[in-house]
Amino acid sequence: MNTYHAHIGGRPFAAEAGAIMTTFAATNAATGAHLADIARCGAAEIDAAVAAARRALPAWKATTYETRSALLNRLADALEAQAPRLARIDAQDIGRRLAETLIDYQIAVAQYRYFAGAILTHEGHGRPIPDGYLIAKREPIGVVGQIIPWNVPAIMVALKVAPALAAGNTIVLKPDENASLSTLEFAAIAARIFPPGVVNVVPGFGEEAGAALTRHPGVAKLAFTGSAEVGRIIGHAGAERLVPVSLELGGKSPNIVFPDIEDIGAVVDNALFAAMYCNGQSCLAGTRLFVHDDIYRPFTEALAGAAARIRVGDPLAADTRLSCLVSERQGARVLDYIGLGKAEGARLLAGGERVRVPGCEAGCFVRPTIFEARNDMRIAQEEIFGPVLSVIRWRDHDAMLREANDVRYGLAAGIYTAGLENAMRTADALEAGSVWINHYFNLNSGSPFGGVKESGIGREHCHETLNLYSHVKSITVQNRVSAPQFVPPGQV
Ligand code: ADP
Repeated sequence: MNTYHAHIGGRPFAAEAGAIMTTFAATNAATGAHLADIARCGAAEIDAAVAAARRALPAWKATTYETRSALLNRLADALEAQAPRLARIDAQDIGRRLAETLIDYQIAVAQYRYFAGAILTHEGHGRPIPDGYLIAKREPIGVVGQIIPWNVPAIMVALKVAPALAAGNTIVLKPDENASLSTLEFAAIAARIFPPGVVNVVPGFGEEAGAALTRHPGVAKLAFTGSAEVGRIIGHAGAERLVPVSLELGGKSPNIVFPDIEDIGAVVDNALFAAMYCNGQSCLAGTRLFVHDDIYRPFTEALAGAAARIRVGDPLAADTRLSCLVSERQGARVLDYIGLGKAEGARLLAGGERVRVPGCEAGCFVRPTIFEARNDMRIAQEEIFGPVLSVIRWRDHDAMLREANDVRYGLAAGIYTAGLENAMRTADALEAGSVWINHYFNLNSGSPFGGVKESGIGREHCHETLNLYSHVKSITVQNRVSAPQFVPPGQV
């Protein structure tokens, strides 16, 4: 039977002789088949991983940008070569369809290549001062503790690991307990490329390994992606030790349809893609669809028809368009929200029920579900993380914008209109980290990704991310020792 251990100091971590290693099971989300056992790590393994990362830090910090860039490119090549195998592991582990998890690896590989390039231009700045020079240089922060969720493991690892390594930090990463396998495989690949201790991966539960990592005194920065609730806990842990924290949290993103769209069918496809990709288990999902009154009927009829045609099935089948939720627990949560929507008086336009898929009896498959809702309903305010879309009818532009912004989150937004000025004015008015015009989810390497309000702090996926993983140090040089003065003449 396959047992995955933590990866610490470049190799699988064996518990001390005589210590009892507890494990937890990874199961196939669709079939329920046992996939592997995973070490259930806690404070001892986190301690060992932080120690390994600290030992590796001085030498890694001293590497040139060119060396880091070359190694990140090698990692990208290795992942690209293994993507079919790894994508299959993810599809089985989390129940997402294989076609999507393959795309995850394309995006992940692009991230490593992006930061391999970006680090070469991560420059500080400098300027002459009287009789000397000011240098502001970028330095790595140290050992970074990173905690990720289960929905898109390959992308989550890449968003965290690529900029942190590029900037010269060493890493202790905790994957999610629902999706650890591909990240532990990643650790073994990274161990063949990076010096021991530069990348350490410690699996386990949030309250155990996760909590131990966030409070460890050897960790100099925390980076987290997940729910706003846990984000708050991580923020407190960072505040306690005064270490910087970057957070990428939930979303309830508006997707806005104007009456001047030229092709209803194309926008319907985009709106469904925005809500159903990843089986709706994406923080970026466009889950509040604002449709203008003038086109409301034909639009919602086309939307409900297209949703009903989405083929729900086995994650590994080529013709599947929507597969199962990550776990029975997540499925129960989504079904509870569907019940809540009905109880709140939202009108069901499509779906709303669980589907049984032959051969995948353990999976929780939920039909693409569309409600006609009001923005103040809980189904339109809370992150459901499943294939559930709330359609909200609008007429007045200002009132619609107020509603679009009337939510605790601010991660993303979509706009569909033929009018450029209208699109730009609307984009300016939306409280969101990313706004997509006439498309959704389009994250090219280098486009900043992150949220405002309760969606988080900091931007990933872009050059600026290197600043999240580095400090600026200012060094001033005077050519010779002269009479002491606070500010040189002419400088005030
Ligand atoms: P989701 O709602 O997407 O499952 P969570 O916020 O619950 O996201 O979990 C995301 C990550 O945070 C997981 O790796 C989980 O183990 C970790 N986690 C959960 N609780 C804690 C905690 N108290 N301290 C540190 N990490 C935690």
